[in-house]
Amino acid sequence: MNNAKRHELYQRLRDANPAPTTELEYRTPFELLVAVVLSAQATDKGVNKATAKLFPVASTPATLLALGEDGLKEYISSIGLYNAKAKNVIALCRILLDSHGGEVPRDRAALEALPGVGRKTANVVLNTAFGEPLIAVDTHIFRVANRTGLAPGKTVRAVEDRLARVTPAGFMQDAHHWLILHGRYVCKARKPDCPTCIIADLCDYRAKTPGEPPARPLTRPVARGRPRRAAAK
Ligand code: SF4
Repeated sequence: MNNAKRHELYQRLRDANPAPTTELEYRTPFELLVAVVLSAQATDKGVNKATAKLFPVASTPATLLALGEDGLKEYISSIGLYNAKAKNVIALCRILLDSHGGEVPRDRAALEALPGVGRKTANVVLNTAFGEPLIAVDTHIFRVANRTGLAPGKTVRAVEDRLARVTPAGFMQDAHHWLILHGRYVCKARKPDCPTCIIADLCDYRAKTPGEPPARPLTRPVARGRPRRAAAK
């Protein structure tokens, strides 16, 4: 895909959704960090359901730490891997209080040093909570980048690096959310909605899903060019 096409692709995604954001519900960088840690291999909807009850009770490192691992588990037991996630969240609360004055650090290395926080989570927090122009490549973005030809790569890191290189600066801030939403709702893993996709003509994917067959005509088509039988006399 060339630069002009890339620009057009992002422009269309922006026109369709000028102010995209995460579907995780949060009010502070700390709430976002916790929500993202909880969202690994879980749906945003499921996480929102749990945090809607958790955050009114505990929404700071100190109050979450006071809940303790078992107390936290009561709120998040509907989320996959909740035992490990509870352990990580409590441990990261302790580190935030001991080493960062109870604040979420705006620093990749410090974020990645927190339990349960990898490069992708750090990128989401830096981008979404702090406005850094970064793209956190998840399964949706990996798929969209490869199918469309926007930034093909064999590994998540290769795609992230390529997206960072080829995404025009003016689109970097929101690219993460445009691509994730496009992958989640249009360019779906099993059956992408190519016929309704607003970037279909720019996309390199060879196995695009076909459109619906044309509706059946209400009347029978008239046979053309067929000689009529002469009426019997
Ligand atoms: S045309 Fe199909 S494969 Fe290409 S981005 Fe759109 S939905 Fe995905």
